[in-house]
Amino acid sequence: MAGKNKKGGGGGAPSKLSRKKDGHAKSKQKFAEEVVLKFAGVDRLSSKLFDLHCHSTCSDGHLSPEFVVARAFRNGVKVLALTDHDTMAGVPAAMQAARKYGMRVIPGIEISAKTVHRKSGRGGAISATTEEPVHILAYYGCCGPSNCGQLEKKLAEVREGRFIRAKEMVRKLKVLQKPIKWENVLRIAGEGVAPGRPHVARALFEAGHVDSVGQAFTKYLYNDGPAYARGAELPAEEVVNLIQQTGGVSVLAHPWALKDPIPLIEQLANVGLHGVEVYRSDGRHPVFGSVAEACNLAKIGGSDFHARGDPEETDLGAIALPAGALHEFLKLADPVWSSAVENILQDFAEGKLEGIGKDNESCLMEKVEIWKGDICLTNVQLPGEEEEVMCLRLSPWLTEEERQMLDKVASKFGLRSTLLKDENHTALAVYRQ
Ligand SMILES: [Zn+2]
Repeated sequence: MAGKNKKGGGGGAPSKLSRKKDGHAKSKQKFAEEVVLKFAGVDRLSSKLFDLHCHSTCSDGHLSPEFVVARAFRNGVKVLALTDHDTMAGVPAAMQAARKYGMRVIPGIEISAKTVHRKSGRGGAISATTEEPVHILAYYGCCGPSNCGQLEKKLAEVREGRFIRAKEMVRKLKVLQKPIKWENVLRIAGEGVAPGRPHVARALFEAGHVDSVGQAFTKYLYNDGPAYARGAELPAEEVVNLIQQTGGVSVLAHPWALKDPIPLIEQLANVGLHGVEVYRSDGRHPVFGSVAEACNLAKIGGSDFHARGDPEETDLGAIALPAGALHEFLKLADPVWSSAVENILQDFAEGKLEGIGKDNESCLMEKVEIWKGDICLTNVQLPGEEEEVMCLRLSPWLTEEERQMLDKVASKFGLRSTLLKDENHTALAVYRQ
């Protein structure tokens, strides 16, 4: 590949200029590789290093977060973003499991959104509007989202909307004389999981109304199909804003599945979208690759693995992402994630940190009571007489840069930080001095 570019015009000896250019391209490539390797914590590049899109039983996947991580590791993945629908409930378990394998987990979510298509009638007046579901991936840094109370409130509304929507689909199916039991939908979704279309589809299949889960979609559940129902999704622009306000990187998922994706990509790029999925199992999508470039968006991709049991399904680690694309993604994520850390620690220092608690699935932090004196969580002694620390559950490890950045930000707000490690925890404790 580089050999072709090396040759100067007319096939003669390479000119000084082209040699210089070539050298520049090579050093740029080397730099990109170094950044990617450092982030992944490995010293050898492989096309399977990253998978930035997958699901667990916390949404509509069929493997628990621990098993998703184990399978990713088996497949050679070193950096995995768990992106369940509308929840980060599986992220702590995935991070814990990743520790065993020396892998890194990027906290992620695939947020259900919608876009509205307007049809103009005579004289330009709008004659009809139709809604289409749009999925937007959110990627967060090592400390998770800032303003996680705000994020969780919105996600809880979307999840609640999924229950209402699934109930409506069950009602429509009854009218269509294809009755399914609501309890079965809930059982298939799993305890506490907001049901989605795949769960309704499986219930239809189990009840014998269709020959396959796929047929449930093509016959009844497709967008605006006879048993289709709308949820409580936010408009796509609002979701991009929400991700921005909570310190995340936003990426439009599988644009090829949308009816009219190009105007939407342009529209979302204008409100701060960071990237688009353009890599698939068949390589880089030529159209979306060019659109992303024209809109100055990062180009990534992931397997979207659900463990459906279908031999055709793209497996974890099966999407080859070039080092250059990963570098672009990490480069634009870095300031976003750093400012999230600043916001989180500033709020903590000022006693304004909200939304930490067991009910908040979007929160990667927990408050830990420390007894006065000499006893502290996980056998690590903290100096001083702190009564309360905030504990950040982290990826199994941090890069040296991330550690330094956390220390720097903590000291800026008069805080100190200590890395806590034992069999059960890997966390960064941040405390007031
Ligand atoms: Zn997905």
